[in-house]
Amino acid sequence: MGRIIAIANQKGGVGKTTTAINLSACLAEAGHKVLLIDIDPQGNATSGVGIDKNNVDKTVYDVILRECSIEDAIIHNVYDNLDELPSNVNLAGAEIDLIDIDRREYVLKDEISKVRKKYDYIIMDCPPSLSMLTVNAMTAADTVLVPIQCEYYALEGLSQLMYTINLAKKKLNKKLEMEGVVFTMFDARTNLSLQVVENVKDNLKQNVYKTIIPRNIRLAEAPSYGKPINLYDTKSTGAESYRLLAQEVMDRDKKI
Ligand code: ATP
Ligand code: MG
Repeated sequence: MGRIIAIANQKGGVGKTTTAINLSACLAEAGHKVLLIDIDPQGNATSGVGIDKNNVDKTVYDVILRECSIEDAIIHNVYDNLDELPSNVNLAGAEIDLIDIDRREYVLKDEISKVRKKYDYIIMDCPPSLSMLTVNAMTAADTVLVPIQCEYYALEGLSQLMYTINLAKKKLNKKLEMEGVVFTMFDARTNLSLQVVENVKDNLKQNVYKTIIPRNIRLAEAPSYGKPINLYDTKSTGAESYRLLAQEVMDRDKKI
């Protein structure tokens, strides 16, 4: 049975989508079968792998509304070993639609359970909010991976995020665990990045990945080419660091 990982942080622009795409791609490169689920109406984890988000037939929204099966919405072999359940702006309506739905926290979990045996890893890219979509992801997940940007306000909002994760664990998903925290956009030229890493480590008693993702222009460019970093610039420091992160994620499976 594979692991289902929700990539979440309600703070915007911290590297959730960059991590979702490139961790998925590096796990796929290592030979694992991966499903990337975009549950953000911004659809960046959809366009970022080269899918035209405004021209997809079915999205995660249709799946959540139970208007189509998850199998029918999944786009297969976007890249080798990598399938995608796409999203676009239609998903913005889901918050309202879900209000009337029975067991609304479990909609995504119920659908994912139909395909989870086909995948080694299922990675979900969450929106920058603690909305019903993020709650659905936490209900469906085995673990939550939290990207933290190395900037001055890094700690802001983290206690609220941890509180939500614990609440989801208590009320909706007893087996939910923290996957860990990964630092992103580390800038070796500034002391600030280092201070942030130390500060967060001191304040947060969580598993912190040894791999720190550096600020790397190639990572910022890759989505406009619709490619994950390992295919856009395979020797870049961005590609190397996401490979190392993928290795740490895979190593965790051996420990369990
Ligand atoms: P949102 O909350 O809006 O969904 P996010 O948390 O998914 O944002 P990203 O979209 O991954 O964050 O990243 C925000 C911006 O920073 C993007 O333009 C992305 O290309 C850029 N970026 C992310 N990680 C890096 C990095 N390590 N080096 C350089 N640029 C990066
Ligand atoms: Mg995003």
